[in-house]
Amino acid sequence: MDNNHIKHNQPLITADDLKAVENVLISNWIAQGPQVAELEATFSRNYGGFSCGVSNGTSALYLALHALGANSSSHIALPTYACSALLNAVYLIGANPILVDVLDDSFCIDPIQVDKYASGADFAIGVHTFGAIADLRALKGSTKYVIEDCCQSLGAPSLTTMLGQNSHAAVFSFYATKLIAGGQGGLIWSKSQPLLSKIHDYRQFDCRDSYIPRFNFQMNDINAALINSQLERIESNCARRRLIADQYSQHLHSSLTIQSGPCRADGIPYRYVVRLPDCETRNSLLSHMKSNNVECTIPIQRYELLHRYLNLDSKLFPVAEHIVDTTLSLPIHPGLTDNQVDFITGLLSSFKI
Ligand SMILES: *Cc1c(COP(=O)(O)O)cnc(C)c1O
Repeated sequence: MDNNHIKHNQPLITADDLKAVENVLISNWIAQGPQVAELEATFSRNYGGFSCGVSNGTSALYLALHALGANSSSHIALPTYACSALLNAVYLIGANPILVDVLDDSFCIDPIQVDKYASGADFAIGVHTFGAIADLRALKGSTKYVIEDCCQSLGAPSLTTMLGQNSHAAVFSFYATKLIAGGQGGLIWSKSQPLLSKIHDYRQFDCRDSYIPRFNFQMNDINAALINSQLERIESNCARRRLIADQYSQHLHSSLTIQSGPCRADGIPYRYVVRLPDCETRNSLLSHMKSNNVECTIPIQRYELLHRYLNLDSKLFPVAEHIVDTTLSLPIHPGLTDNQVDFITGLLSSFKI
């Protein structure tokens, strides 16, 4: 049986991926090179605009902010229910974060709260949380620049038509746990060519005829080959995720719901997050799964909420505070076998509320 220890997430590496990496390793060129250029070309082909591959998603966020002119006087709105990479990028710039609560259904930044607390801010970072598409149009009305964080939404159909429609730049991550598992890696996309050439210039420092401070944010071709190879399968992997999500939804207790967005036609189920009525029920689903060797996770814990890190008044963020208590993320990676999916749906069916 393959039902022993089902992991919450794991990268799906195929023989094609191994071959792609091997080809780079024996090519005598392993630094940033043709594979990174190919990755950038693929993004431009898929989404139009211009792209720059970089070391990871956090550097992509930093570089997007930097190139758009963020500095120590900038105010940047971001959701409190988010990866701390957002806050790190804002602080690396030296700018001032304005944390904002999220929507109870999609877990994405709440545009009404942005309007209330961050109207006139220089930037807003909208995250397509766990594959739910955030409403960026509303953010565009409240702040000068919008950055679209697609680290959890690569493969979502809405990106094909909507990427950059309501944002000035978009960022992607290819970290081991993301929709494309490159180990590390990131990318910045924008429809602005001048913005992207600024970022290309800043990415590396070598062999320049004049000096301005630059850094080393490069991706290497070993990473890029692994990413390129997986990108060829993104459609089928996303289809597999949707199929698994459908199975779960069919077996979920009728009184339970899930985060809305990732399973909609415009999103992508990067995470399948179940909503439970209270913390106790959530914890009992967690132990029900654990005692059957299925690893589930609390997608963001209370202590990880960005306003908690900054010791802000938690009463200002009631929705995020509620979400951390009442959510559980089930395994949904495309490498799950049919048997494993059946095993998990069986556990969902036998869970008594
Ligand atoms: C992972 C992630 C990042 C950071 O990407 P890294 O490649 O890990 O630096 C930023 N934003 C979101 C929403 C993420 O999920």
